[in-house]
Amino acid sequence: MSTKPKKDEGLNSPQYDIPEELQNTVTITTLDKIYNWGRRNSLWPMMFGLACCAIEMICTAAARFDFSRFGMEVMRPSPRQSDVMVVAGTVTKKMVPQIVRLYNQMASPKYVVAMGACASGGGPFKEGYNVVSGIDKYLPVDVYIPGCPPTPQALIYGLMKLQQKVDRQTIKEIYSRPDEMIPVPVLGPDIMDPREYDRIRAYTRQKAEQEAAAAADTAQA
Ligand code: SF4
Repeated sequence: MSTKPKKDEGLNSPQYDIPEELQNTVTITTLDKIYNWGRRNSLWPMMFGLACCAIEMICTAAARFDFSRFGMEVMRPSPRQSDVMVVAGTVTKKMVPQIVRLYNQMASPKYVVAMGACASGGGPFKEGYNVVSGIDKYLPVDVYIPGCPPTPQALIYGLMKLQQKVDRQTIKEIYSRPDEMIPVPVLGPDIMDPREYDRIRAYTRQKAEQEAAAAADTAQA
């Protein structure tokens, strides 16, 4: 067997040994593998940033670090042409409705990267009156990148982890899931987690019943 590296090593299924003279023209692979190979090398992040972490993201896209080497240089200003949301910066309660709306408009299958301490858990502003303690309270996060801010190298490492996640997916798994629309939270005095609505409703109903019972007791007395 030849010791020369195969040109298409990443795409071939390893159990098939292709003769050397055919390696430039023949590939034996699975539908899942070729589908994921195309997607992992053309992830298109959405062009938006929230705070200081966004400066590191911009830096990662510039000449020195150049994440176009990973097929990710096409940052799209439209969510409909993006499949990766890099949440780069502090997530304020005022911004959450807009972020969720943009996520809902993105092309599927789509991914979310929480870049930095703020996007992952509130960071130095956690418990601040205006700050959300992590975007994962609202969106399904695929990769968390620690740091305040994470370096460009850390962002690139996180994006490579995302590529590995894409590699493990199957077409069946992706398309058997309905495209979930996240309810857009309503900005109020204190924005609520939409996943907690059922619990909040049950609690509110219980309190109302207790107050009604107490009022009835007072009227009888
Ligand atoms: S994690 Fe640090 S650098 Fe990033 S947005 Fe928050 S405060 Fe800024």
